[in-house]
Amino acid sequence: MPSENDTVDVAAAERALREKQADLEQRLGRFSAIPERGSNLGFGKRIGDGTIEAVDRLNQIGVGTRLESRLERVERALEKVEDGTYGTCDVCGDAIDPRRLKVAPESTVCVACPLPAR
Ligand SMILES: [Zn+2]
Repeated sequence: MPSENDTVDVAAAERALREKQADLEQRLGRFSAIPERGSNLGFGKRIGDGTIEAVDRLNQIGVGTRLESRLERVERALEKVEDGTYGTCDVCGDAIDPRRLKVAPESTVCVACPLPAR
């Protein structure tokens, strides 16, 4: 009988992935609502705060980019759930360590393989 550590609970992984996907989409929706840099919306309400707000905005743009690439990985992992290849490496086809999947359900490659370039 396999122990909990060497089986992949695909149903649980799918639930976790769907939650991550919904959360990321919501956060990205908020980020994409931020006005473009150079727009005056949201600026100038309080004198002296503009610089800090601009820095915050740049930081948020960086976070938004990372969220997008995370969302791509989550969506790819969900594709694998749907086509029945969840838990196998996209590159070499070997099984991905279930402990790795537990920590990061969006893993689509094994520890030995680099993430494919996009
Ligand atoms: Zn691999």
